[in-house]
Amino acid sequence: MIVACAATTLKPTDEIWGVVYHRLKVVLEFIYTCVVRKHAEDRAAGYISSLKGLKSKNLNLKLAVCGCLVTEPGVKVSSLFPHVDLFIGPNQPEKLKEYLLVNRSTSLPVNQSINNDRQTGRQEDRRTKYITIMHGCDNFCSYCIVPYVRGREYSRPVDEILNEIKQIDANRYKEIFLLGQNVNSYKYGLANLLRQISGIKRIRFMTSHPRDMSDEIIDAVAALPHVCEYFHLPIQHGNDEILQRMNRGYTADQYRKLVDKIRSKIPGAAITSDVIVGFPGETEEQFRSTLYIIEQIGFDACNTAAYSVRPGTAASRLPDDVPQKVKQERLQAAMRVVEEVARKQNEKLIGTIQEILVDQSASQPVSQSALRGRTRGNKIVKFRADKRDLLGKLVNVRITSAQSWVLKGELTNGKF
Ligand code: SF4
Repeated sequence: MIVACAATTLKPTDEIWGVVYHRLKVVLEFIYTCVVRKHAEDRAAGYISSLKGLKSKNLNLKLAVCGCLVTEPGVKVSSLFPHVDLFIGPNQPEKLKEYLLVNRSTSLPVNQSINNDRQTGRQEDRRTKYITIMHGCDNFCSYCIVPYVRGREYSRPVDEILNEIKQIDANRYKEIFLLGQNVNSYKYGLANLLRQISGIKRIRFMTSHPRDMSDEIIDAVAALPHVCEYFHLPIQHGNDEILQRMNRGYTADQYRKLVDKIRSKIPGAAITSDVIVGFPGETEEQFRSTLYIIEQIGFDACNTAAYSVRPGTAASRLPDDVPQKVKQERLQAAMRVVEEVARKQNEKLIGTIQEILVDQSASQPVSQSALRGRTRGNKIVKFRADKRDLLGKLVNVRITSAQSWVLKGELTNGKF
């Protein structure tokens, strides 16, 4: 089970899987956890608890809980979940190696594969390779638990990242996604890194803190053909007073000017965002300023969430005074505006030709031969194609219709 962000860094290598299957001979189930929102934490905790009965009946089943639940301040996971064999916090992949070394002599039969029933979209079969360039965060936004569970910022050296990219099978992966809690504060310079990457057709990066989005990064995206015109820039709120209480370090107007600058240098750039509704003390009028800025900016997509208290954060000392019912009403209203704005943004693409990375067969049939891929702006496009060998290829598609979360189109001049 995966309830985790794209920056979850534990990626067992083939070598490690080899040890699990052939030497340990046990079923090792990984449960990836996220504690950024209470809802995600509760789901992960409920799932881990639910495995207790299964584990007592199956001696070959070993459980490894990974991610931010393991390092959440005030949570003693070993007491809460005594049936779990291994806890691996963020950036602690060595824990898995240690476990495998210690248990190397165990000899139990192999009998089933890993349950992987839900993913967050970080699906390697999308033909996109995810590469973490930095861990942790120094920003301490008042509502956010990430700096407490993932620690202070650490940037991987450029050479190490470039070496990892060199190992990528360029026939399988046409796109890489550079990840970090705030890639704009990558110690060795994100623009510098982008300029040094070669041999990959498309590069994206995420997440960008608006305050740290420099001209140098925008100029690098504008100048480098292999870097996609895509910016995930969480705004979080449309009201300056709330932004200040969130400790975001910018005003709504500064955010607007940043987006204007990006769009003036990179016309057609896709801008996506995150917003939180129901932050402590949020009035109806302040909430409306969030709706207003979503419309005014015209986000291509925007994740919406109702505020939930994260113990230990600065905001947890503020009264959580927006009633749940009001939070939910505001959340629904924000989602409606986001959907409408996304539809309008997508309609602007009708008639244009978009470069699509074909990543899957379309699950909802346009026809039996439908394929699915993503534009450089990360929008999903479905189109008909007779040739299944287009999977993993870059193709040109003319957009013929648009909904909020999907575009439809027709293949033009084949693959690149
Ligand atoms: S920038 Fe703020 S919201 Fe993002 S991870 Fe860091 S503290 Fe959390």
